[in-house]
Amino acid sequence: MTTARTYLDYNASAPLRPEARQAMAASLDVCGNPSSVHAEGRAARGLIETAREQIAVLVNARPSEIVFTSGATEANNWALAGGWEAICVAGIEHDSVLSAARESGAKLFDRPVSDTGVIELTGAADQIARAAQTVGRTLVAVMAANNETGVVQPVAEIAALAGELGAHVHVDAVQAPGRVPVDFAALGVDTLALSAHKVGGPRGVGALIVRDGVSLPALIRGGGQERRRRSGTENVAGIAGFGAAAAAITSDREAAQRMQRLRDSLEDGVRRLSPAAVIVGSEVARIANTSCVALAGKPAETLVIKLDLEGVAVSAGSACSSGKVGESHVLVAMGLPQEISRAAIRVSLGPETRDDDITAFLAAWEKVAGGAALAA
Ligand code: PMP
Repeated sequence: MTTARTYLDYNASAPLRPEARQAMAASLDVCGNPSSVHAEGRAARGLIETAREQIAVLVNARPSEIVFTSGATEANNWALAGGWEAICVAGIEHDSVLSAARESGAKLFDRPVSDTGVIELTGAADQIARAAQTVGRTLVAVMAANNETGVVQPVAEIAALAGELGAHVHVDAVQAPGRVPVDFAALGVDTLALSAHKVGGPRGVGALIVRDGVSLPALIRGGGQERRRRSGTENVAGIAGFGAAAAAITSDREAAQRMQRLRDSLEDGVRRLSPAAVIVGSEVARIANTSCVALAGKPAETLVIKLDLEGVAVSAGSACSSGKVGESHVLVAMGLPQEISRAAIRVSLGPETRDDDITAFLAAWEKVAGGAALAA
């Protein structure tokens, strides 16, 4: 019996990169507290500062702008907790943005999204103008790429609109690095959230990039680590692993091209096996690795379980909400009919994905979902 598995759920969590594993293992032998002045403490501090530089290179930010957190959920929560009077969001954002926005006490402004999953710029302009002119201190939250559909959002355009109106901009860029270029300096946004485990680093560590000069009240208070911006003894192993993963994806320049070729061949195969399949967002720009596939009448939960039994790991909607049966809030916000939003599965590839994985996926798909149309 073969136990080979095909892992196509990178948007939920990517496998640990060997470079990250090595950096983490080495860091475990460094015993000092990074705040201590002695040699052991300085060695631990050195690991953190190396990682800060590696992450700065990945997203073209300054090392001083990077603040380590427990992940992107914390980074998003922190950015949205800045005492805003108005927050502009769209229904396709991740729950860690939407829940933080709802709990913030700020007046919320909802931004329209097209049925292809892209934020509509004219609607966004109206939204930001209403918020900034009628309420006051405004934050605009916009994701770089959606975790369920992979659709790339017009962050630079939104940032320009917000800039004209004096609003701050926060970007959830969790799904972007290694898949679409991220240039923090060029975007001119105020804050940007990253997560290590989406780029081959460990789970439970991330960063908020805070543009130099932007002041954000600390969310976690205590010993004043991270230049008083985020207290608590740093997760040295996690941070070292995050940095090494960032360096690895920075140097793997062909990864996006490779993933796109494989993703396109997967989608060609799905269309051939199931001509009725809908590939959400395929008409617009998407990150290279993501495919959101729906076949009306085939509930996503059932498909995910059947594919799993065939040895293929994918997810229904966002992994953070897996376990919840229902429709994806992202697809609902796009106005897609229930037969699609309840049927959509997300297949997400990574730098390690190979042709064999696509072949295995298509064989499993044919068995559990497609097949009948082959003869046509
Ligand atoms: N934002 C997006 C777009 C995500 O996909 C995720 C992870 N599912 C998060 C935020 C939360 O990241 P973390 O797991 O690091 O808390």
